[in-house]
Amino acid sequence: MKPHDFPDDIRPFLLPKIEGKFTYQCLGCGRRHGIGELLYTCPDCHQVLLLEDQDFDRLKNISGPLWHRIFDYRKMLNIPALQGIYRYHEFIGPMIPLDDIVYLGEGHTPMVAANAFLAGEAGGPFYFKNDGQNPSASFKDRGMASALSYLNSLVRGNGISDVLAVCASTGDTSAAAALYGSYLQPHIKTAVLLPHKKVTPQQLSQPLGSGAAVFEIPGVFDDCMKVVEALSEQYRVALLNSKNAWRILGQESYSYEIAQDFEYDLHRKVVVVPIGNAGNITAVMNGFIKFFNAGIITELPKIVGVQSNHANPVYRYFSESDPDKRKFVPVNVKSSVAQAAMIGNPVSMPRVIHLENRYNDLSEKQNVFFVEVEEQSIMDWQLTANRNGHIACTHGGECLAGLVQARRRGMIDKGEVAIIDSTAHALKFSGFQDLYFENSFPDEFNISPNDDLVNAPVFVRPADLEKVPSPGNPLEGGDLKRFIQRVSEEIAQALSLKKIGRGE
Ligand SMILES: *Cc1c(COP(=O)(O)O)cnc(C)c1O
Ligand SMILES: [Zn+2]
Repeated sequence: MKPHDFPDDIRPFLLPKIEGKFTYQCLGCGRRHGIGELLYTCPDCHQVLLLEDQDFDRLKNISGPLWHRIFDYRKMLNIPALQGIYRYHEFIGPMIPLDDIVYLGEGHTPMVAANAFLAGEAGGPFYFKNDGQNPSASFKDRGMASALSYLNSLVRGNGISDVLAVCASTGDTSAAAALYGSYLQPHIKTAVLLPHKKVTPQQLSQPLGSGAAVFEIPGVFDDCMKVVEALSEQYRVALLNSKNAWRILGQESYSYEIAQDFEYDLHRKVVVVPIGNAGNITAVMNGFIKFFNAGIITELPKIVGVQSNHANPVYRYFSESDPDKRKFVPVNVKSSVAQAAMIGNPVSMPRVIHLENRYNDLSEKQNVFFVEVEEQSIMDWQLTANRNGHIACTHGGECLAGLVQARRRGMIDKGEVAIIDSTAHALKFSGFQDLYFENSFPDEFNISPNDDLVNAPVFVRPADLEKVPSPGNPLEGGDLKRFIQRVSEEIAQALSLKKIGRGE
C-alpha cells in the first residue's frame, strides 16, 4: 500500500520523524553520557550502561490506541527500512535516519501455537516464538540490526571508514555480527573470538562464510569476553557484544512484536526466556516497560527467566528471597546443551538487577521469576516439542522445561498463556540431537536418552538382491523391478502396512 492510500489521521505518523534525545545512562553512578562516541561502560565508574531517551515523554502525546493503529498500518508499508525491527523506530532508534538502517530480514518472527497434545503435556496453552527464523537463525540479529544501523549512521555521518567490529561469542553473536558486518564492507570489517570447540560446526561455518576474521581461544566464553574487553580498552575497535547498549535496544523489538501480535492485550500472558549473558532478558523487560510507560500496553506480562543448573548464576542470585541479602557470585560453568547460554559471569547482570526491581514495582506485584532446569529435561522437552511440529533449538527446549518447572512451582496459574522463546533454529544445535539419539553424551552432561524420543534412519538393503543401484550405475529392466519390489516389501513390513485387497 502506498502512503497516500492510508487514512488521513495515520498518514502524518507513517514515516517516523528523526527525533529523540538518547544518552547512555550509567547503572552504577547514575551519570549520563552523550552518544556521539561509542561507549560500552561508564568512563567514570566502569559500570554497564543502558540507552535512555531523555525526550521519551513526547511519545505519550500520542494515545495508546493511536499507536496501535500506527504500528498496525505500518505492516502494510513497502519500505524496507521499516519492515524489520524499525517498525518501532520511535522506540528503538528515533535518531537513526531511514537511509542508514540495515535491514536483512530480521524481526517479526512467527508465533506458533502448541498443539493440544503438547499443551497438555506442558500443563497449559503456549506458543513458541521462533526467533530461529531470523536471517542468521537466532535472535541476535535483532540487536545486530540495531548496533550496525547505528554504526552505519556514525560511519556515513562522519565519513569514517575502516571500522573494525569485534565480539566474543558462544556462537550466535558472531554469526550475526559477521553477517551484518559483511553487508557494510568495506567500511566495516568484523573479527570474532570463539571458545575453541565450544560452538557448533554450523555456528563456526557462519562467520567463516561471511568473511569475518575468526579466532578460536582456549577456555569458555567468559575467557573470550575478557580478551575482547582488553582489546576494546587498548585498541580502536567497535565492540559488538551486548555490553554495547545498542544491541539491547534492537532486542527490545521482541517484546513489541509480542504486544502487537496479541492486539496489545497482555493480560494473563507469560513470556519465558533463556538467560546466558542476560542481554535478552534485559531487553525483553525494558521493551515491555517502555510500551507500558507510553500507554501502548496497560498491563505488564509475567516474565520467567530460565537457566540450566550447569550455568545458573542469575537463578542463584534471585533464589535468595530477601533482596537485601542477595549477592552476585559468578559460577564456573559445566557443559550444557543450552550452549549459547553457558555463561558464568553475565555482563548484563547489573541491568537485570536494576530492571527486575523496576518491573516488579511497575507491576505492583512480583512479576519476574527465575527457574533452573536440568540438562536431561532440556533435551527431552526440545525433542518432544519438535515431534509436535516445532523447530525449537536446545534453548527453546530449556524454555519449555522452564515453563513446566514454573507451573510446578506455582508461579503460573492455569489459564495463563505462555510465549516461549526458541532463540535459535534447531539445525544450529542438531549435534546434541545426534548425541542423544546415539546415546553418546559425555558423562558431564548427565543425559541419557528416553527410548520414546530416540530416532534413527533404517538402512534398507535386501540381502537377497544381487544388484543395487549406485550413483552413476543405475539398474534397468528386471534388476530394477526386483529392486523396487523387494525394497517396497521390506519398508511395508517395517511399517506393518496392510496390502490393498482386491475390489478396494
Ligand atoms: C545468546 C543466546 C542466548 C542467551 O541470550 P543472552 O542475551 O546472552 O542471555 C540464548 N539462546 C541463544 C540461541 C543464543 O544465541
Ligand atoms: Zn558510572
